[in-house]
Amino acid sequence: MHADLLTSVVAGLYIHIPFCVSKCPYCSFASRPLAGQDPTGYLAAILAQARAMANHPWTRKVRFASLYVGGGTPTVYPGADLARLIESCLELLPFTAAPEISVEANPNTVTLEKLQTLRRAGVNRLSIGVQSFSDRLLTAIGRAHTAKEAHAALDLARATGFPNLNLDLIYGLPGQTLADWQTSLATAMAIGPEHLSLYELMVESDTPFGDLQRAGKLALPAEDETVAMAEAICAPLMAGGYARYEISNYSRPGYQCTQNLIYWHNDSYLGLGAGAVSSFSGLRIKTVEDPALFIKLLQAGGTPFLEAEGLPLEASFRETVIMGLRLVKGVAVRDLEQRFGLTPRAYYGAVLRKLEDQGLIEEVAGQLRLTRKGLPIANQALARLV
Ligand code: SF4
Repeated sequence: MHADLLTSVVAGLYIHIPFCVSKCPYCSFASRPLAGQDPTGYLAAILAQARAMANHPWTRKVRFASLYVGGGTPTVYPGADLARLIESCLELLPFTAAPEISVEANPNTVTLEKLQTLRRAGVNRLSIGVQSFSDRLLTAIGRAHTAKEAHAALDLARATGFPNLNLDLIYGLPGQTLADWQTSLATAMAIGPEHLSLYELMVESDTPFGDLQRAGKLALPAEDETVAMAEAICAPLMAGGYARYEISNYSRPGYQCTQNLIYWHNDSYLGLGAGAVSSFSGLRIKTVEDPALFIKLLQAGGTPFLEAEGLPLEASFRETVIMGLRLVKGVAVRDLEQRFGLTPRAYYGAVLRKLEDQGLIEEVAGQLRLTRKGLPIANQALARLV
């Protein structure tokens, strides 16, 4: 056997496409409208980065279990361009025998031909940003698609034969009621995707929604209504055959997202593209966010990295605990000890004891995890372990 295979570890590959049809007013992701950008130059630059990383000593020691093309909206590109990107990465970089290959899509950017091209290129998981099945709410959050277009995209995805379909939905939207949310959930479940990502709207200060909120002009649901929306998720999903495996993520058995599990296990990943982040060999590496600068740096034969931060052992331990606690099954205490030589009990001492006394965290069969009481207020509980 080749020496590299003996030492290989599993990692994830993320490719960031920073372009969208238009910018949603709540969005704080690294994304911008496609108009005026250089999408062809950008893909060439990503491939140049992939070629450079193929020769990196770290890359030669890993096998990628997942390739995730996210954004932004990757499907603003023609299918043939995305297929070439994916096929080139599969050729250039080392993958496991059957990697999960995901592409994010938005409803008004897919056609049957585009999806068929992606499927032929090996894409086996499609993640569609539906967000809501109400046109009134889609308008309220500035989405560039309608509910009808969302249904059409989901029909096309099924007709194309994607074996693994994810739907993103958001609750806590301006003007949304509990009944609206329950209708969106029921509609999603009737479609029957393998995976559902259900997030509460977070208003970030550096967005137009942040400006509206500061001006007192953003009519979000009352806190108790948003809590009721969160509480309305689990029972129907469990009854429909889904299991919650992370704070905001639900899947049918066997369909947990490999790429996200790599993040939540705090394993290694390589990020290609403007604004992408990589984490390997004890380093967290950020890439420049501006696509034009990204292209320029790669055209000049340089590297697009903005900064690399060394992760001290204890910081990495804390991060692994916090990310692992996002998973419903929690984090294995023995794995932490083997990986870092530290245990949560010894490291956090009284802080952890207090969280346990308050019934927010528990240790069961060697797994440290949030309790049923802790899961709904995960962010507050986890903030105490940072
Ligand atoms: S489509 Fe997604 S990534 Fe693009 S602007 Fe809207 S929320 Fe942001």
